[in-house]
Amino acid sequence: MSSLPPFANEPVLELRRAPVRAQLQDAHGRLSRTLPLHVPVMIGAGERIGEQLHSTDPGDPDNVVAVAALATDSEVSAAVEEAERGFRSWRARSAEDRAGALIRAAAWLRERRLEIAALEVRECAKPWPEADADVCEAIDFLEYYARGAIELDAGPPLLQVPGERNDMRYGPRGVVAVVAPWNFPLAIPCGMTSAALATGNAVVLKPAEQSPGCALMLIQALRAGGVPGSAISLLPGEGDVGAALVAHPGVHTIAFTGSMPVGVAIARAAAEIAPGQRHLKRVVSELGGKNCVIVDSDADLDEAVPGIVSSAFVYAGQKCSAAARVLVHEAIADQLIERVAGAVSVLVVGQADQLGTDVPPVIEQSAKERVDRYAAIARESGRIVARVDDVPANGWFCPPTVAADLPPDSPVLNEEIFGPLLAIDRVKNVEHACDIVDALPFALTGGLFARDPATVRYVRERSPVGNLYVNRGITGAMVGRQPFGGNRLSGTGAKAGGPDYLRQFVEPHVVTENTMRHGLVV
Ligand code: NDP
Repeated sequence: MSSLPPFANEPVLELRRAPVRAQLQDAHGRLSRTLPLHVPVMIGAGERIGEQLHSTDPGDPDNVVAVAALATDSEVSAAVEEAERGFRSWRARSAEDRAGALIRAAAWLRERRLEIAALEVRECAKPWPEADADVCEAIDFLEYYARGAIELDAGPPLLQVPGERNDMRYGPRGVVAVVAPWNFPLAIPCGMTSAALATGNAVVLKPAEQSPGCALMLIQALRAGGVPGSAISLLPGEGDVGAALVAHPGVHTIAFTGSMPVGVAIARAAAEIAPGQRHLKRVVSELGGKNCVIVDSDADLDEAVPGIVSSAFVYAGQKCSAAARVLVHEAIADQLIERVAGAVSVLVVGQADQLGTDVPPVIEQSAKERVDRYAAIARESGRIVARVDDVPANGWFCPPTVAADLPPDSPVLNEEIFGPLLAIDRVKNVEHACDIVDALPFALTGGLFARDPATVRYVRERSPVGNLYVNRGITGAMVGRQPFGGNRLSGTGAKAGGPDYLRQFVEPHVVTENTMRHGLVV
């Protein structure tokens, strides 16, 4: 058993306290003097600086936050070969030893949490509370998987009979390709990477092109904690680098978080067996969603309205778990629409570093164009019930918008938009709402506001989603409390931050020994 104290979530900052806010401003100032960060390709002990990839501030796109090298095809191969070598020594270390490195990496992040949160504010326009929560979640993943890996390493109890000893152990699978998105720029790559490392695999990380600076913080933390360079390499780059990495025959497991189309392409590529390849690749994927909140006629609207508005608009709707659709009982639809519209119309759209900001800019120009396109469809085919037009001119700001009365086949109702645009539908009853949810290809998160326990049971039984939230907002899953991940085309159901997750990164071995002695060898 582990000698570590029991896992507890890292406490978030108390931003209501003036001294805490002042510390953040200081950290922001210190960080600003170090920008732009330089992010090299890092393979084993080697580093190659380059300047091909620029990540910029979404609220001030002329401001370059990080300058990164673009990994080449030959660097992808070199990183996988280095990981193959690193795997042999990293797997040979004990689970406790590996856990120790992750715990020290968590301590490294903890010591620098303000500066790293400030980097997220600049590089990804995460508002302060979201940026701080992301750093805390990264620390949680390191601490949680470190403990989980020690437990897993002991193996499960098996039935033993006289004359026989049965033993089951989980061993690492080999080289893990981690391909990450930008919207939780530290926590998501950290979760996938730390789970792989804790269980003895070697990792090659391809971060999102929008957040190489945050990925560098992760690599520095892990290496400072004692993970050898050969077990963790960094390949900054665009989608083609990710594609080359997942296709490499030396990769055993692919841990991917990102959009559904890319996840599907990766699943297809992973199914190919290259000449000489002696293993099936395993794909662990966490994909997009079209998350619905059902509001029954008896719901407490004082609870439902803020729950819906924060789930839809915090971080400009750019969370995979964000609310995209509300399915409200027709008996209270007008009332709910009026109240949601009222709450949205007073949202403050502004820069991520302003503590009063409710809705920051979206990540990049193409994201703004995508959201604007869906908003135009909503305007033409439905009714806009709220829209905040007072948005800063510079930066990729989208007006928070609520649409209603859209036709059932509208793309606004059926596709992932990933921005501050919420659609409200009227439904005849909760059964009707469940039919709509059931017809969607996504099944990531969902919500229900209702008072009757029978309704809660009914929706729970019928809901295909990975995470259903009742009478609360539908974002903000906590490590160890809400194992997170979707079903159907939202992912492989791996449940990050939960007890099943580490098993994706290991393979089981059973040894059965005959213990009947037929004479003694002396
Ligand atoms: P993308 O799918 O566009 O990109 C994710 C990662 O995949 C990036 O590193 C990207 O590189 C890389 N990539 C792109 N094309 C390929 C390819 N053909 N082969 C291999 N890798 C590739 O997602 P976003 O970064 O835009 O993230 C937003 C999406 O992620 C949303 O759909 C959201 O719902 C989902 N998501 C899901 C979560 C979950 O837990 N279920 C959590 C967070 C986000 P590059 O950046 O250079 O394009």
